[in-house]
Amino acid sequence: MRLVIKVGSNVLTRSDGHLDITRMSAIIDQIAWLRSQGHEVILVSSGAVACGRRELAVDHDLDTVEQRQLFSALGQVKLIGLYYDLFREHQLHIGQILTMKENFEPGEQFRNQRACMSVMLENGVIPIVNENDTVSVTELMFTDNDELSGLIAQMMQADMLILLSNIDGIFTGAPGLPGSQLIRTVSPGRDLSEYIQTEKSAFGRGGMHSKYTTAQRVQQAGIKVIIANGEREHIITDLLTCPADTPHTLFET
Ligand code: GLU
Repeated sequence: MRLVIKVGSNVLTRSDGHLDITRMSAIIDQIAWLRSQGHEVILVSSGAVACGRRELAVDHDLDTVEQRQLFSALGQVKLIGLYYDLFREHQLHIGQILTMKENFEPGEQFRNQRACMSVMLENGVIPIVNENDTVSVTELMFTDNDELSGLIAQMMQADMLILLSNIDGIFTGAPGLPGSQLIRTVSPGRDLSEYIQTEKSAFGRGGMHSKYTTAQRVQQAGIKVIIANGEREHIITDLLTCPADTPHTLFET
C-alpha cells in the first residue's frame, strides 16, 4: 500500500509547546515497521511554527506574517533535523518537500512535484512534506496541513490517508461526555456535519472541521481515510494489524 500519514502539531508538541521527541520517535518506529512490511509512506508533518516559537525569544512585536515566516524558517530546520536523526537509526532515508497551494494547480509545477515524490519513493526515500510557510501568501495558503495531506494523497494516488491528531476520531457529541460515541465507519455520501465542532487545535491551524472536509474530499476521490489519535501508543501498527480493537473513524470507499 501507499500511505500518506499526516501528523499534526498537537501530536508532535507537548503542552508547553516543546517538541515531544519520545512521541516522534515512536511514530518513526511505526513508519519503519510499515516500510519493513513493504508499504510506501509519505509523511506530512506540521510542527515547524510550534518548534520555531520555542527556539527564539523575541522581545518586540511581530505581525502574524512575520511570526509565521520567522518561526517556520527556524523550526523547519530543527524538525527535519530530528526526523533525519530518528529515521537514520532505522537506516531509512528521508527527503524534504516544502510546497504551496499553487503547486497543486494542474500544470508543470504539479507534474514536477509529483515526479519528485515518485522518484523519491522509487528510490526508497520517505518524503516529509510541509507547507513552505516562509513564502506562502496568507490568502493563498492551505487551510492547514489536513488539506495539504489530502491533496498529496490524491496527487500520489495513495491507497490510504491517515490523519493523526489528539482525538480518537469523530464522535456523536463532545468527546468524553457520557453518551458521545465514536463513529467507526463513514460510508461515501454520509453527512456528519451535525457532529463536527468548529474549534481549532491549540498549536496547529486545523481542527475537526478541516479533517472532516479533507476526509470527505479524499473519500470521494476513492481513497480511504482514517482519523485517529496519534497520542495513542502503537496507533499506526494497531490500525493496520487490529483495526477492530483500535479507536478510529474510517471513511470507506
Ligand atoms: N505548516 C504549519 C507548521 O508546520 C502547520 C500548519 C497546520 O497546523 O496544519 O507549523
